[in-house]
Amino acid sequence: MKIIMLGAPGAGKGTQAIMLADKYGIPHISTGDIFRSNIKAGTELGKKAKEYMDQGLLVPDELTTDLVVNRIEEEDCKNGFILDGFPRTIPQAKCLQEALKEKNDHMDFAVNVDVKAENIIKRMSGRRACPNCGATYHIESSKPKVEGICDRCGHELILRDDDKPETVKRRLEVYDDMTRPLIDFYTEEGILVSVDGSRDINVVFEDITKILEGKA
Ligand code: ADP
Ligand code: ADP
Ligand code: ZN
Repeated sequence: MKIIMLGAPGAGKGTQAIMLADKYGIPHISTGDIFRSNIKAGTELGKKAKEYMDQGLLVPDELTTDLVVNRIEEEDCKNGFILDGFPRTIPQAKCLQEALKEKNDHMDFAVNVDVKAENIIKRMSGRRACPNCGATYHIESSKPKVEGICDRCGHELILRDDDKPETVKRRLEVYDDMTRPLIDFYTEEGILVSVDGSRDINVVFEDITKILEGKA
């Protein structure tokens, strides 16, 4: 199963993507996590990406697309994968489509997690993230079992640099301009499914799995 998670920043894509990856045993590929681990490791890519991320802007397509196209060639992606945070622009979507077409392949679903902007701001201001495994928590709605510690891997949780209110506002604008058009793109491709992401995490998850398994 090859799945794209679409939705505004903070809509809950990552939360759902990790649950899906655990359930179906396929890798969760988050471009945001890849950039953050490059920043932490001090790589050239990390240095370049940070300049954009700190401003709430998108990292340029030329630094992003090859990264993902190469990643999905790896052995663990043979039975499928979940893309979280990619594609974020029409050119990225077209490159992904071309790369798969060369192998006579295609994505199966683009799952749009739909949440209104006012809910999103609340979600992002309370988000706590695990820099080790990419899991996210919320100080009110999705607390870890032990405060400040990741349930999945035991690492200490952090507040992301780009989850500050000013940067969040910019990221939502960038989403509207650059990423929202992908909803139409994947509708035309015939693979878009939308779920109401404003409900409880487990209810949203159940909805998505029903759709993926053809029961909805
Ligand atoms: P969120 O989970 O809030 O949607 P991500 O972790 O996916 O955020 O991304 C964080 C930042 O990394 C983005 O604001 C952007 O700067 C950069 N980024 C991630 N994925 C992409 C992409 N596909 N194209 C360009 N920039 C990206
Ligand atoms: P994205 O990957 O789309 O940026 P995340 O999965 O990181 O979003 O979720 C953003 C924040 O909202 C996190 O703090 C997460 O714990 C919380 N969250 C995710 N889904 C829900 C939900 N259905 N209800 C309430 N809070 C949620
Ligand atoms: Zn973790």
